[in-house]
Amino acid sequence: MNRVYLDNNATTRVAEEALAAMLPWFRERWGNPSSLHPPGEEAADALRAARGEVARLVGGAAEEITFNSGASEGIATAFESARRRGGERRRFVTSTVEHSAVAAQLDRCAELGLETLRVGVDGEGRLDREALLAAIDERTALVSLLVANNETGVLTDLAGVGAACRAAGAWLHLDAVQAPGKVPLDVGALGADALSLSAHKFHGPKGVGALWARRDLPLAGLVLGGPQERDARAGTENVPGIVGAGVAARLAREHAADPAARAALAALRDRLETGILARVPGARVHGAGAARVPNTSCVGFERGGPDAAGGGLEATTLLALLAAEGVDASAGSACHADRSAPSPVLLAMGRGEAEAAGSLRFSLSRETTAAEVERAIEVVAGAVETLRALA
Ligand code: PLP
Repeated sequence: MNRVYLDNNATTRVAEEALAAMLPWFRERWGNPSSLHPPGEEAADALRAARGEVARLVGGAAEEITFNSGASEGIATAFESARRRGGERRRFVTSTVEHSAVAAQLDRCAELGLETLRVGVDGEGRLDREALLAAIDERTALVSLLVANNETGVLTDLAGVGAACRAAGAWLHLDAVQAPGKVPLDVGALGADALSLSAHKFHGPKGVGALWARRDLPLAGLVLGGPQERDARAGTENVPGIVGAGVAARLAREHAADPAARAALAALRDRLETGILARVPGARVHGAGAARVPNTSCVGFERGGPDAAGGGLEATTLLALLAAEGVDASAGSACHADRSAPSPVLLAMGRGEAEAAGSLRFSLSRETTAAEVERAIEVVAGAVETLRALA
């Protein structure tokens, strides 16, 4: 069975070009980039090239990129760096719809007795900008916000946020994990101080990421030892992975810069949504009224159609039915797909527990085809019908 993979916000397939670029670095070229001999220098050159590509993806400079194990580490580094600011800067600000990698850092801040604030969103997942701007002053150490929500695809309206942070001396960290390849990124225009990425979310390898931080930002090293990554992250670099991340970054930048490619992805996403809404009474798309990345669709399914008493279908059961038919999606963020707790993102958007627990996330990629979308519509409609018949 050819599987229809619609879980690209969890992870993506490594691009052919990225894989081809990585392979020689396992067997033919295995030098340590810190070594002062030709194989080492060759590896150092490869890191330099990849650093340039990742910098171009976000509109920053190569020397501002620190390679790491992924966004969870980049986010941890940004928060730890801001915690060390000390003095009067004791306030940490995020939103109620952040990924757990950020939410857990805010919890850590609270445990340490720092002031924490989670700014809310409206029913479409749009940030309360007034509350956000009011929280930014000379006591704010860090503001950390998603660029695009991993569950709903809703884009954060960042206009003016960077300027407000700059004026108050607060740092702005952006969790841009779900943005590459979907929207262009420009750290200068966004007024960001730091930004986190994971290569496996844009057709690069897993376990490789990058933290962009403006050049004069003092980074707290979480991993100590050697002088790699300009003393910001010790440990011999994952050369094959970083090479793959560099190629994937170039492909993502080209895709995001191509309006036709973005429109084609959005058209597939829209077809998926209109197809499901037409076939499944009582389905609704969360965040449909907000600006979104072109690949993500989060759909809620009521238990018994529009005439039945409220409540949602059990997303994990629905997922199992889809998987049996070869369609792979997820229940909210893949990171808590195995837990039955409803998505905190949907709860923050005002959805009831039952509806949040009955919602599925479909996330497409540039590899998704129209035929796959049609197959997914059929399978989703059939699975909901089956479950409703049992209800
Ligand atoms: N931030 C967002 C928005 C994510 O979607 C993810 C992963 O799902 C992360 C952070 C964490 O990325 P990683 O697991 O690669 O560290």
